[in-house]
Amino acid sequence: MDSINAVRTENRRDSIHAVHEIAEYWGNVMIQRFVVGAIQTNCYVFFDEVSKEAMIVDPGYFEERICTFIEEHQLKPKCIYLTHCHFDHILGVKELKKRYEIPVYSSALEEMNLMNDAVNLSTYMSGECVKIPCDKVFFENDEFEIGATCFRVLETPGHTAGSSCLYADKILFSGDTMFCDTYGRCDLPTGNERQIVQSIKTKLLTLRGDTIVYPGHGEMTTIGEFAELEL
Ligand SMILES: [Zn+2]
Repeated sequence: MDSINAVRTENRRDSIHAVHEIAEYWGNVMIQRFVVGAIQTNCYVFFDEVSKEAMIVDPGYFEERICTFIEEHQLKPKCIYLTHCHFDHILGVKELKKRYEIPVYSSALEEMNLMNDAVNLSTYMSGECVKIPCDKVFFENDEFEIGATCFRVLETPGHTAGSSCLYADKILFSGDTMFCDTYGRCDLPTGNERQIVQSIKTKLLTLRGDTIVYPGHGEMTTIGEFAELEL
């Protein structure tokens, strides 16, 4: 029995590993996805090939291979961006922040939730009480740069009260607001279904249809494909 399980685990690792190898280039920028942690969260490393400046989005769990990737590509991490407070998006923050001495960014509306383990669910789900202080917070339409790319913060409450997405030039990091086939659950603390539907309608579906969506879990989609779903 043990050996069967071992083989299954090994196969699963292999198939996950294949996903990790997917790296996408958009002109001078590249996005690498790492699937991390128990809930298979998508942690993304975005970087500019010219300046080597990088951003880590939602490090849900610390894994050494994220650092190996950063070091092999000689990247200069500039920040960690958190789309929302949930434990499966933040458990890797402490280690990466310490290693690269970089600030943590998030939406101003999520700042309190990141410090509240009853809302970020860290104690309940991981057994470790995690509180993440933000070094810099953003409001709707605030911008910051990574290399030559200017990211704009979109406040998209619903999955949590302070959930946000990051948009730049046909790229969207959507956190748990938008997935390839559905939107995020709203039954967790501060969640609100009416709000998430409103956020998607007014903030996300108004983006260009060919915008590539990089969600917090599962496969990528585009705004155009999502718009065609009957949800
Ligand atoms: Zn979440």
